[in-house]
Amino acid sequence: MAGRVYLVGAGPWDPGLLTLRGQTLLRRADTVIYDYLVNPEILQHTRADALLVPTGRSSYRMTQAEICQRLVDECRLGRHVVRLKGGDPFVFGRGGEEAEALRKVGLEFEVVPGVTAAIASCAYAGIPVTHRDYGSTLGLCTGHSRDDEPDTDLNWGALASLDTIVFYMAAKRLSRVRDNLIAAGRPQKTPVALVRWATRADQQTVVTDLDGMVDAAAAQKMTAPMTIVIGEIVNLRRTISWYEKRPLFGQRIVVTRSHRQRGELSTRLSDLGAQVIPYPTIDFEPIPDGIAEVISTFQCFDWVVFTSANAVNFFLDQLLDAGADLRIFGTIKIACIGPATAEGLVKRGLVADLVPKRYVAEGLLDALGQVSLAGQKILIPRALIARNTLPDALRVAADVVVLPVYKTVPAQVDLGVHERLIDGAFDIITFTSSSTVTNFVSKFNSTNLEHIRSTCVVVCIGPVTAQTAAENGFRVVAVAHEYTIDGLVQSLEEYVSSVDKADYSDH
Ligand code: SAH
Repeated sequence: MAGRVYLVGAGPWDPGLLTLRGQTLLRRADTVIYDYLVNPEILQHTRADALLVPTGRSSYRMTQAEICQRLVDECRLGRHVVRLKGGDPFVFGRGGEEAEALRKVGLEFEVVPGVTAAIASCAYAGIPVTHRDYGSTLGLCTGHSRDDEPDTDLNWGALASLDTIVFYMAAKRLSRVRDNLIAAGRPQKTPVALVRWATRADQQTVVTDLDGMVDAAAAQKMTAPMTIVIGEIVNLRRTISWYEKRPLFGQRIVVTRSHRQRGELSTRLSDLGAQVIPYPTIDFEPIPDGIAEVISTFQCFDWVVFTSANAVNFFLDQLLDAGADLRIFGTIKIACIGPATAEGLVKRGLVADLVPKRYVAEGLLDALGQVSLAGQKILIPRALIARNTLPDALRVAADVVVLPVYKTVPAQVDLGVHERLIDGAFDIITFTSSSTVTNFVSKFNSTNLEHIRSTCVVVCIGPVTAQTAAENGFRVVAVAHEYTIDGLVQSLEEYVSSVDKADYSDH
């Protein structure tokens, strides 16, 4: 039994622009054959055992005939084959040629449209492709036809008469587009937008006019992939640009949290328009050695104090692994250092009795000081290495047991990201604990570190982290008022907007 081929549009780049149908088919696919313009994040929807076949880029690139043959071969093996293409498979994507090849040998296929680059570029640059006041005709056009043939002549007269024209694959043929459209009567001052890497966090838009577009592209180093949008409608961008107006747009921000924790901060920052560069400096490993003994004497405790969501998770995991469950808490009271820890606790089905107003050890001490601790027995499950402020102070009145349930270890470094940081290709580093600072520093030699310190600024989650960062020579420009991820994001936003304002006043 032969399989079936799905020609699926992946959209321009942003993985959120994949269709639901595309996602469903990727989940089912046995084989995925994909182009370089497809965001690799989209491949996360595939099964772990799916065969992933890139069609290659410059050094090795499958020919169209090879791609068609591979589709046929995979399909004949009875496999579900997803042919994943950037944008839409039928818009300058050779999807038609692949469908013909499959039909010719009698194989089944399905086509799933995608958001094509022209539409996405205009949407994300704030240019409506049609508008009742500006244009009722829209042309999609390619700057060159086939790799193996000279440029075929377009009907420039017909093109010039369209209200809006969007060119694909024309980065190297800008002067040809300019000369021909002007010769065909399009005014030199016709507005033009060049949109590079549309829908990515580093999207670049250059607004110019027909006459000036070649020089503007060279001056701004605009290269493929980009679309060229030509027509009066480009002027609307002044009013309705939105993607590039988000508060953190254009900021390249390094997130140093562990893989396990980085999700929330990264998502918040990218939603605000930042380009997030994950560089996890720490990871966590459980230390399950002490749990059995603690369980056997658990009923002696009056309080359990958690100082991080990690402590909550490692402790409760170990409790379950050891055969106990939440009922063990009975009437034992629980304190948390801050809201993130308390939230981590709620996710595990427990509610804290006490959360202080200030989210540092001292705040927790003040709050605990309000309750009588004399003669009480307190358990603190936490990291192997941590500040002793809290247990030491509590020991004055109470009997304190510190149980190390996890330790921080250095994370594996992603070499590609490491190189980018050495090159200084980022603006801001976020640190969420002193160990993220010290581990970050340990990854670079002194020359590289000096370069990084001089080219970027640092934003920290709280004063202790900020002090460690300052001691390590970083320029700390903002510290969260509230020592949480929300607080960190807010301070970062305030910092960026204050710099933007300063930039304007300079001009
Ligand atoms: N099938 C694709 C087009 C493939 S041709 C689609 O429907 O979008 C490749 C050309 O698409 C590039 O040369 C460029 O002009 C355009 N393109 C693709 N992705 C783009 C992006 N993210 N931003 C701007 N242009 C893009």
